[in-house]
Amino acid sequence: MSNTPEHVKCLIIGSGPAGYSAAIYAARADLKPVMIEGPLPGGQLTQTTEVDNYPGYPNGRTGPDMMNDLREQAVRFETDVRSGWVTKVDFTGPVHKVWVDEKTEIHADTVIISTGASAKWLGLPNEIRLRDIGGGVTACAVCDGFFYKGQNVVLVGAGDSACEEATYLAKLCPKVYMLVRKDAFRASKAMVHRVENTPNIEVLFNTEVKDVLGEHAVEAVLAINNKTKEERKLNVTGLFIAIGHKPATELFKGMLDMDEAGYLKHDADRTSTKIPGVFVAGDAADKVYRQAVTSAGSGCMAALDAERWLAAQGKH
Ligand code: NDP
Repeated sequence: MSNTPEHVKCLIIGSGPAGYSAAIYAARADLKPVMIEGPLPGGQLTQTTEVDNYPGYPNGRTGPDMMNDLREQAVRFETDVRSGWVTKVDFTGPVHKVWVDEKTEIHADTVIISTGASAKWLGLPNEIRLRDIGGGVTACAVCDGFFYKGQNVVLVGAGDSACEEATYLAKLCPKVYMLVRKDAFRASKAMVHRVENTPNIEVLFNTEVKDVLGEHAVEAVLAINNKTKEERKLNVTGLFIAIGHKPATELFKGMLDMDEAGYLKHDADRTSTKIPGVFVAGDAADKVYRQAVTSAGSGCMAALDAERWLAAQGKH
């Protein structure tokens, strides 16, 4: 058996809307893409229930079903989808080297990074339990806010995302309790003004979630003032967590440029990174939009960029 590492034209790291969309475009352009699915095949959407805001699904689709659809579509055009986890990369030479599960070395002309990000959670047992059963705990107001139309909700967080989500929810819900753990927001002044000018958002400073009540769905949130220790039961049906996201980009530290939170940087009008032939798509590089449809769009862009780059090098 030869020990020469496999050489591919296009390697896609990570699955999810960005990765699968990149795969569909790359496969149709005859780049014969190989996709390494990563630790959570299908990505964040496999942990959600109903997805109602992805164009083309008039009746909605569950996150896992939608990811199966995208995967099947990628496979239909002969994307080689492999389970496994990329554990090391070396982008320093003319060919990009990638190791899967610490042992299998693959060489690639182009690499599309679509490793995604994950929402941060408070870590309370009832929060995680209700999240996992689709019982009213979520980290995406734009995705799930609609289900809480006409109902009261709690939103946790004090950054720009939290302010944006609170004002979004306030358009749907009669009352939004916003729990801020310190005595001030972290968000920009403009975002804070929006919150302050929205009468149905009640901001509770120095306040944290002590527990989430409800067996099968959220029935109330037990909030605690961390200064006075006073507890307050908030009668709500939804708990929105907006305390930040963590991009899955550890792997690329030292190889690619990233911001202080770990989001990968790319050229202003392209998905290209500072390493020729390495492109990035989806939430690993996006801290602003973070939607399945924007991810899918950037996956398409990355595949087109990869194809054009290969053509310019005379490799395709
Ligand atoms: P941030 O990291 O900016 O803020 C996270 C917030 O969550 C902080 O206020 C933090 O509190 C709070 N928090 C963290 N852990 C807990 C906890 N366990 N319990 C309670 N609260 C907690 O994340 P964002 O997602 O808001 O923003 C990320 C980046 O994206 C920022 O750079 C932001 O500016 C940018 N962004 C820009 C937007 C825009 O321009 N339209 C929209 C959305 C995001 P504390 O302050 O106490 O640490």
